[in-house]
Amino acid sequence: MKKIAYFLFLLLFFTSCKSAFSVSEKKILYSEADSPAKVLKITNKKDSLILRTSSKNIKNIKNEDLSQLVKKLYLTMVTEDGVGIAAPQIGINRNVFLFYRLDQDEKSVEVAINPRIISHSKELICFQNDGCLSVPGKYGNSKRYSWIKVKYIDQNGKKVKQKFYGGTRSGDYTGIIFQHEFDHINGKLYIDKICN
Ligand SMILES: [Zn+2]
Repeated sequence: MKKIAYFLFLLLFFTSCKSAFSVSEKKILYSEADSPAKVLKITNKKDSLILRTSSKNIKNIKNEDLSQLVKKLYLTMVTEDGVGIAAPQIGINRNVFLFYRLDQDEKSVEVAINPRIISHSKELICFQNDGCLSVPGKYGNSKRYSWIKVKYIDQNGKKVKQKFYGGTRSGDYTGIIFQHEFDHINGKLYIDKICN
């Protein structure tokens, strides 16, 4: 019995170790904690490697490092005038991003933790003038689903299931922002999906 308890303790210990943020991640989060982070750019070789890496799920969502990550992402997105930002863009390969809910009147910023796209339209559209904070000075049209059904955990730790749509920049394109940010956590960029 004691052996089982010890084993369980070890298992718990290592699971929690796995979920903790690394020393280098904490450096990004807490050096100048109240300032925006540097946005990684595809034009820099070292940045590019991080941007092209698939991210890991957050295991412990009641984690103060996660709150700091969200704060840092928010400050950076607002400063850079983006409509979304993903953790890898500030050098943290974790499955977290922020996106604007353009489908809502107040157009609030939402946090997506461990997001998944559970289904999508068969149809693909060519979204005009996609752009990315990590691809400086460029815009291009990208292939996107016209709607997606998604699951994620929000900033309050609540499980959310939603359908988002996307079409043109003049209307609600929350679904496109979500797809763009979802690509980031999978190491993909809009320049991989160019259409005419
Ligand atoms: Zn981007």
